[in-house]
Amino acid sequence: MAPTLPANSKLDGIKGMTPALQGRLAKLGIVNVQGLLLHLPLRYLDETRITPIRELRAGEQAQVQGEIVHAEVQYRPRKALICRLRDDTGQLVLRFLHFYPSQVASLKEGKHIRAFGEVRGGFFGWEMVHPQCKQAEEDAPVADALTPLYPTTAGLSQATLRKWISWALQQADTAEILPPATYQALGLPAFADSLRQLHHPEPGVDLASIESRDHLAWRRLAFDELLAQQLSMLKHHARRRHQGAPALAQSKSLVTALLRSLPFALTQAQQHVAVEISRDLQQSHPMQRLLQGDVGSGKTIVAAMAALQAIENGWQAAIMAPTEILAEQHYQKMQGWLAPLGIQVAWLSGSQGKKERREMMAAVEKGEAQLVIGTHALFQDQVVFKRLALAIVDEQHRFGVQQRLSLRQKGVQPHQLMMSATPIPRTLSMSYFADLDVSVIDELPPGRTPIVTRLVSDARRDEVLERVQQACMEGRQAYWVCPLIEESEALQLQTVTDTYESLRETFPQLRVGLVHGRMKPVEKQAVMAAFSAGETQLLVATTVIEVGVDVPNASLMVIEHAERMGLAQLHQLRGRVGRGAAKSSCILLYQDGKLSETARARLRIIYESSDGFAIAQADLALRGPGEFMGVRQSGLPMLKIADLERDQDLLESARDIAAKLLEQVPQAAEAHLARWLGHAEELVKV
Ligand code: ADP
Ligand code: MG
Repeated sequence: MAPTLPANSKLDGIKGMTPALQGRLAKLGIVNVQGLLLHLPLRYLDETRITPIRELRAGEQAQVQGEIVHAEVQYRPRKALICRLRDDTGQLVLRFLHFYPSQVASLKEGKHIRAFGEVRGGFFGWEMVHPQCKQAEEDAPVADALTPLYPTTAGLSQATLRKWISWALQQADTAEILPPATYQALGLPAFADSLRQLHHPEPGVDLASIESRDHLAWRRLAFDELLAQQLSMLKHHARRRHQGAPALAQSKSLVTALLRSLPFALTQAQQHVAVEISRDLQQSHPMQRLLQGDVGSGKTIVAAMAALQAIENGWQAAIMAPTEILAEQHYQKMQGWLAPLGIQVAWLSGSQGKKERREMMAAVEKGEAQLVIGTHALFQDQVVFKRLALAIVDEQHRFGVQQRLSLRQKGVQPHQLMMSATPIPRTLSMSYFADLDVSVIDELPPGRTPIVTRLVSDARRDEVLERVQQACMEGRQAYWVCPLIEESEALQLQTVTDTYESLRETFPQLRVGLVHGRMKPVEKQAVMAAFSAGETQLLVATTVIEVGVDVPNASLMVIEHAERMGLAQLHQLRGRVGRGAAKSSCILLYQDGKLSETARARLRIIYESSDGFAIAQADLALRGPGEFMGVRQSGLPMLKIADLERDQDLLESARDIAAKLLEQVPQAAEAHLARWLGHAEELVKV
């Protein structure tokens, strides 16, 4: 009978599968038959050959067969079980530093065993430390395929894993789903063959290529995984086109009026993305567009133009920001731009009194408030819109993927514009973000002077203090950013207050401000307002000022313990200066002598580059995609087999093939998704 168990079958109810075993498998991310099939070995043991002891070479992995001729437990220099194994050609010492009584029993004098391990030269000739041993007579057959070593977890033995994975290989339906032309054109083998080759490679196979994961069998599975992801993204995209959204006619008066009131003209890039967005808003299905632009590229004005298109059509728009500080700043800016046009801008803030808040909410519900601004958190409580047509999410990367989802599901389908200063590297935007349309502002407004970045050892703190003093005496302003202390928020708070006190002592003549995440929203606002107005000259801050804050007169930033921060974060922070005409600089203070290699590499990148895209790409290479987009925090499963960097060519092919498959062989597309479901199911939600 042909194996027929569908790959997405759950493991419950399968004979021999206990809840305890299921729990351990789940720890490895294995929840269905496909999970077993795709749990691929890390390495292999070659137990297909028996090497005569005389032919052993140091550093090699080998299997030997022989009789134990001597065994004893030694106590000096430390406790160890020492056995001497003899075959026709020589002798070998087996050494165990940790062992069970059962091992002592099975490795007694006179026993015939096979031992597998790494050979090294010891004091008494060849030896193996902690070899894997099993009882075997000389004529017992050897393995006919390499033995897989799987990633595992406590309480789950290699033997059990091997047994269940072999079971899955026998029982599961691994018949080919894709038209052979699709994978053959890429030079890839069939699905079932690939699985077999990876789990049980035949002797003589190119192990190095399998273990480094560029073997064709690996590539086939990576391709399938990417294809499943692409298919689900395409379906998601298509589903959205079937949802209704208000079609918003192009603005005739408000946008023109806004642009006329500005002291500057839009850059080419801003004009270009504004057109793309305006075109999307005219459609009767919801826009899902990501607006990317480096810090300071001028995304806010583009957002205002989009909001006006909604408002002119009689609808409401909302802007969500990740922090109170940023929401407040957006409110000030929008109020300044839009109030003169007669637009009602409402602001929802944690610092508002209950009464004021209630009034604002009522205005939103009645539709009187045309543009509503607040933090994302606030929008999640009970804000009811009368007619919301456009939701703008600023600094999207700070929200993570999960929040993007919850917002999308709110109420009627508004158009959605997401803005991010953290550029998404191409491989990521082609995979996890493939269901979004992307606009890019690839040009900074004219007249910006580049920021000079300096790496300064903490030992030269005095010079840095002098620089701060000088900048402030010349009428400019400075930020002093305190280190991120991930382990303890209390410690971080302590550090920032200590720094504040000490800087106030150092600079009695300067007006110094303090802002951190633990302050009440009203307090934060007051501090930021004072800094914006130039009343304070030096602002001591935690990384709460990381995103969006715009004070053009600030021209110097000092970042302490820069080595602890991520690249994207440093780039964001640095983007807080260099916003005006004055020459700006960013000083990265680091603890000399304590720098790890990675930290050094990171600082070098931020020092050498001011291009957000290049930095993001380097960050991705250093940290991997999960951390990069905060995807990991949101619990989203990552690609398990494919690696976006290594398999970029497959990603491109998968994208093209997914589109063709859906169109030409939709049943194959569905079957492929079904097989990869449970795995790909989660990817669909992105
Ligand atoms: P970001 O893209 O980082 O959100 P902002 O929208 O805050 O950048 O813009 C940064 C600064 O540049 C703001 O003070 C904004 O008013 C100004 N700005 C935006 N567009 C232009 C432009 N075309 N010419 C000159 N200044 C501009
Ligand atoms: Mg911004």
